[in-house]
Amino acid sequence: MKKIAVLGSTGSIGSQALDICARHPEEYRVVALTARSSREKLFEQVRAFRPEMAGLTEPIGPEEIPEDLRFCRWMTGKEALRAAAAEVDADQVLVSIVGIAGLQSVMDALSAGRQVLLANKEALVTGGHLVTELARKMKKPLLPVDSEHSAIFQCLQAAGGNQPVKILLTASGGPFRTWTKEQIRNATREQALRHPNWSMGAKITVDSASMINKGLEIMEARWLFDMPGDRIEVVVHPESIVHSAVEFEDGAVLAQLGIPDMRVPIGYAMSYPKRMSTGVSGPDLFALGRLTFEKPDTDKFPALVLAREALEAGGAACAVFNGANEEAVAAFLRGEISFGKITEKVNDALEKLVGLPGTCIEEIFEADRKARETVRQNK
Ligand code: NAD
Ligand code: MG
Repeated sequence: MKKIAVLGSTGSIGSQALDICARHPEEYRVVALTARSSREKLFEQVRAFRPEMAGLTEPIGPEEIPEDLRFCRWMTGKEALRAAAAEVDADQVLVSIVGIAGLQSVMDALSAGRQVLLANKEALVTGGHLVTELARKMKKPLLPVDSEHSAIFQCLQAAGGNQPVKILLTASGGPFRTWTKEQIRNATREQALRHPNWSMGAKITVDSASMINKGLEIMEARWLFDMPGDRIEVVVHPESIVHSAVEFEDGAVLAQLGIPDMRVPIGYAMSYPKRMSTGVSGPDLFALGRLTFEKPDTDKFPALVLAREALEAGGAACAVFNGANEEAVAAFLRGEISFGKITEKVNDALEKLVGLPGTCIEEIFEADRKARETVRQNK
């Protein structure tokens, strides 16, 4: 039986992971659950899965914990994340919280010798070299949960040790793929939150609409697969059936296909190297009929160019890219700035904060702080 801790259990990824645990009760025991503020949902999950530890990063008084749930150790604040990542005895730690908040948890879990199932791409975007170095040192390779990276990882399992020459990172193109630049600039919150293929948390859904998500994923792939950015090509594929592909020197391309359902990559990370049922069936190719591919339009989606520039610049540039985006997306979701402003603010922060160092975690957090400040100052 595998013991699993789920950080961010009330979110889209976290709750789908728990669905899989519920399907395989003889194989998975949930030992820790954490959330930021969704206490009612967390209470329900604790009732159903009976973990040893549960925590909310936002404050909650002991008297607010329902009596029937006091059997487990309740914690709050950053301590809750640390305990779930590194103190509770777990085999696997699924890091499915949002944003740079995941970086410390990934480092904590790896330091404690845990197998990390990584949904939180921002940890690699901001601290890729630290995370991959620690994973290597602890001999605990990261298991990707992001669908594209899971696809690449699955393709590499079939590569017999051959290194790919290129990664083909697919992108749905988001809800604004066919919109004009002007329409995109003025898109509303509601329009940005309507993803054509995937149902996900708010932040990543907005990132998909701006294609900043694909920029973050180029950075994520660079670290996970040790592949230079210029060999990671973004391929727009609106049907989201091919989840990504790898190309080898003999001209062969291996791809992984499936319907867009995150339970497949979550389940693969959980059961790796085996496979297990996830409740998802394969795609109906006859019903699909055709699959299409196009080049990304970087004029409409300049985020892709900015992401490559940040990767090229090195230092803390990717942490600046990420921090500015997190702050700008939050402002957009609060209705304070227009959709077009998100990418503009990321560009502005990158220009202003060029050359910041990112050798250690403190420097990365400092770059993140400065990027957020830059976004807040320029309304
Ligand atoms: P979500 O918003 O649905 O859920 C986030 C979870 O983390 C919630 O449980 C929330 O309470 C908790 N959380 C949020 N901020 C936190 C903080 N600062 N500290 C502690 N806990 C916090 O998000 P999601 O869509 O499940 O995404 C989670 C991560 O997985 C993100 O990094 C995202 O980019 C990545 N991801 C998600 C999907 C998807 O399909 N949803 C796909 C690929 C990658
Ligand atoms: Mg993805």
